[in-house]
Amino acid sequence: METLVKAWTAARQHLEAAGVDSPVIDARILLLSATGVNRMTLISEPHTPLTPEAQARLRGWLDRRAAREPVAHIVGERGFWNLILKSDARALVPRPETEVIVDLILKNAPVDRPQRVLDLGTGSGAILLALLAERPEWTGVGVDVSQEALALAADNAAMHDLGDRLTLVEGHWTDGVTGPFDVIVSNPPYIPSADIAGLDVDVRDHDPHLALDGGADGLDPYRHLFPLLPDLMTPWGLFAFEFGIGQGPDVKALADAVPGLVKTAIIKDLSDKERVLIGRRDL
Ligand code: GLN
Repeated sequence: METLVKAWTAARQHLEAAGVDSPVIDARILLLSATGVNRMTLISEPHTPLTPEAQARLRGWLDRRAAREPVAHIVGERGFWNLILKSDARALVPRPETEVIVDLILKNAPVDRPQRVLDLGTGSGAILLALLAERPEWTGVGVDVSQEALALAADNAAMHDLGDRLTLVEGHWTDGVTGPFDVIVSNPPYIPSADIAGLDVDVRDHDPHLALDGGADGLDPYRHLFPLLPDLMTPWGLFAFEFGIGQGPDVKALADAVPGLVKTAIIKDLSDKERVLIGRRDL
């Protein structure tokens, strides 16, 4: 009889054999989602049998994962900060390192007045929704050039009852957006174009390239956006931008070259990698 614990072991072995990076965690997430069982039950009642339907579902999902489809696309959702977000091919899968932006903004934004937030390239809406969920007085605008991504962000906003505090705008970066904003955040595409072909298959074949490709050196979005920030921000407003491995010094130099942007600092993620540039508009 197929039980939770047997299915988990077999799933892990299947993913390991296929060379998947995180077979233990992936196997657990797929098993729990395919069976509808929660994590506690997996631990406390490991000999619970699987229904034939759940077994079939799990088999199909393991084959998809073995072919490198992201777990988030297979189960259709992904945890980000304290939210569960719908996740599919319409936008970049939310990543844990991006939570650094949420953490920094919550720690550094003033608490005595509601903040108006702009999220440039909002994708699934992850950063903006996490912030609005944490701060019931805040409002925000999420911009994306992809209509599909915005539809996903709208679904996510509705799912968390945040739709009335945010506006989603289709457009190229700040075109059509009216300031001022107290907070500006972004996880722009930052992979150098020539590096896209060599990315992990999970990313290369499943995340939209629009959300990955940052031009020849990956820095095009920062070059375009940093000079526009001062005019869009309130005095002493806060900004936080994610960047890729090794890009910190160049991204910081681009911000420091803009009159009106001050107090920039490079912040590391939980893997100890430089990941986010924060800064402020001057007073
Ligand atoms: N962090 C993503 C990756 O590792 C890239 C996301 C982006 O370009 N903003 O593939």
